[in-house]
Amino acid sequence: MAGQPDSGITPGGEHGGFRDVLAPGHARRGKPPLHFTDMDDRARQEAAGKLGLPRFRVSQLANHYFSHLSIDPDTFSDFPSASRQEAAERFFPALITPVTSQVADRGMTVKTLWKLFDGSQIESVLMRYPKRVTLCISSQVGCGMGCPFCATGQLGLTRNMSTGEILEQVRAAAVAVRQGRLAGGPGRLSNVVFMGMGEPMGNYRSVLSAVRQISALPPHGFGISARNITVSTVGVVPGIRKLAGEGIPVRLAVSLHAPSDALRDELVPMNRRFDTEQVLDAAHDYYLASKRRVSIEYALMRGINDQAEHARLLAKRLNHYGDDWAHVNPIPLNPIEGSRWTASEPEDERRFLEILHAAGIAATLRDTRGSDIDGACGQLAAKTGQVH
Ligand code: SF4
Repeated sequence: MAGQPDSGITPGGEHGGFRDVLAPGHARRGKPPLHFTDMDDRARQEAAGKLGLPRFRVSQLANHYFSHLSIDPDTFSDFPSASRQEAAERFFPALITPVTSQVADRGMTVKTLWKLFDGSQIESVLMRYPKRVTLCISSQVGCGMGCPFCATGQLGLTRNMSTGEILEQVRAAAVAVRQGRLAGGPGRLSNVVFMGMGEPMGNYRSVLSAVRQISALPPHGFGISARNITVSTVGVVPGIRKLAGEGIPVRLAVSLHAPSDALRDELVPMNRRFDTEQVLDAAHDYYLASKRRVSIEYALMRGINDQAEHARLLAKRLNHYGDDWAHVNPIPLNPIEGSRWTASEPEDERRFLEILHAAGIAATLRDTRGSDIDGACGQLAAKTGQVH
């Protein structure tokens, strides 16, 4: 389980042709207050001991947090009233505070901008579908990957988020769904995707600890099946390989965005460190280890990566590894205002899909949830002001 967050340098990024793009002032942040979910059991026991609380109080706190989704001392009715407040302050410091929310898709999508303890801002998006409710969460403040078409990439990496900061997005969303704050009435948060701000593999330790606590059954976690959790990466190969070795059946999503190194070097700077062959090899090995189909994310950009030749090459590259191991999600780019990277023409999207299907590749055009509220990652933060 993670203690304090790491520095934020992506594993493998110290060598070769890639370094994280860092935001100004990234290293002068201090650390978020330590939260219940940042501590392992021993640390929790020690902290409780310092407050004069016996061991079993830690289990009660876990139950309040994970089973009842509560950090409000007034609800700790099994706790002596004299120590409720102190315990809540020690174990459940306020880590994220809502700044603004935007609602779209007739109330089925809510995007929230959160402020962290140091004034940094991150975002999460809650989306209701007919058979599931999915939360997209952030794992870093900003992102160091520097993809030129992406608003978050323009900000650079400010810092890694702690496990507590990551999990608080999940708890807040689970409460919102339970209370019926999404259109369609009360329900249950069923899926979590690490596709908000940041490169999850750049903050591996905290992300993995968060994954474990999202999937563990209450009172050790939120009880959302690991099969319903997706961890995305832009292609940080050591992270993919490490995750494959954890034996947790989370889905892997790889943001490929281009089928050749020449094009991907331009769109995804990390490609100069780990090229398409290394990334696809690792993704396929992840499929073999997890038996879960890997999602290939592909932002369609007009005239750049959305032509027939790109679709054909993508199909060839994927089919090289055999059948049915990957699912391609082309997604129309939600462009940054004033940028040269813009969304594909609908007929180009259609042709791209047709070529993949004809080559036997599973592919679904991902819906652009929240496209009327700046759905592409990072855009809300970029518009509201700096993330730092
Ligand atoms: S596209 Fe993803 S990996 Fe690239 S800069 Fe944006 S958030 Fe980071």
